Amino acid sequence: MSGVGAGRAAPRADDDGSGEPSPDAGVEVLTARDVPLGGPRAMTVRRTLPQRARTLIGAWCFIDHYGPDDVAGTGGMDVAPHPHIGLQTVSWLFSGEIEHRDSLGSHAFVRPGELNLMTGGHGISHTEVSTPGTTVLHGVQLWVALPEEHRGTGRDFRHHAPSPVHRDGATIRVFLGSLAEETSPVPTFTPLLGAEIVIGPRATTTLDTDTAFEHGLLVDQGSIRVEGTLLNGAELGYLGPGRDSVTLTNETDAPARAVLVGGTPFEEQIVMWWNFVGRSHQDIAEAREDWAAASDRFGHVDGYPGDRIPAPALPNAVLAPRGNPTRPKGSTR
Ligand code: MN
Repeated sequence: MSGVGAGRAAPRADDDGSGEPSPDAGVEVLTARDVPLGGPRAMTVRRTLPQRARTLIGAWCFIDHYGPDDVAGTGGMDVAPHPHIGLQTVSWLFSGEIEHRDSLGSHAFVRPGELNLMTGGHGISHTEVSTPGTTVLHGVQLWVALPEEHRGTGRDFRHHAPSPVHRDGATIRVFLGSLAEETSPVPTFTPLLGAEIVIGPRATTTLDTDTAFEHGLLVDQGSIRVEGTLLNGAELGYLGPGRDSVTLTNETDAPARAVLVGGTPFEEQIVMWWNFVGRSHQDIAEAREDWAAASDRFGHVDGYPGDRIPAPALPNAVLAPRGNPTRPKGSTR
């Protein structure tokens, strides 16, 4: 669950057969790396953010994508009590069910098509366990970095089940922000967008977007052409600010599914290590010490039958703040 790691953006040919870049190229394709979540029967997730080429998309700082996993084979999800600071976690499922408990006292069931948003702020701890009735676990976990003025905010937990919106053969569920004339009632600390989009076979949909936003489209199933660039399953396509719409085409004969995230570029540099988002090595070291000391900062999670996850050792090197390059080099035409 350590956030910082190596990855690489792969520039993608535009795949139109002409050998020439199409005029509206500029989608940066970010490929996933497999990361074991840990635990006795480790579940593997596909991580597309952060990576070397990109730290953030808006305030979104972490994208883990998993499944469809046959829980009988993988053991499902069983994440013991662990802490967070300086971020919000978004759990969004396509199938299965996860039981969430946190040190705010929240006890919730994460179900497909329903947002569960936990705010860590100054400090929270939680557990995530797939329920006994879950046979297939499939979804994403996303993190949102909190801006400086709010990163010490209190713990919070929100649930929202968005109504599906139908548009040009697509079904859209807006869990944060606004899209397709639907707005989530869940407040955010910076301008954000988060939505699930299911596109019918061979359908094309064009969605109006905020020109101040940058966006990332994570393809879950199928192959989706985004502004001329084909994205396959588990790939994340990055689109920079300045677009007033995005056109998505399902290139397959079955429904395709994606998660669209977006937001205004996050101007601050962050230090991301393990489950913490801070601004300095010192922020991270203090949070690690507080967790090791079972400080009240993170509270206590009731109802979990096992031990807390110990913090890993800090690296020998000083953790350096990271942000996005002001101009992506070599990966965007
Ligand atoms: Mn967590």
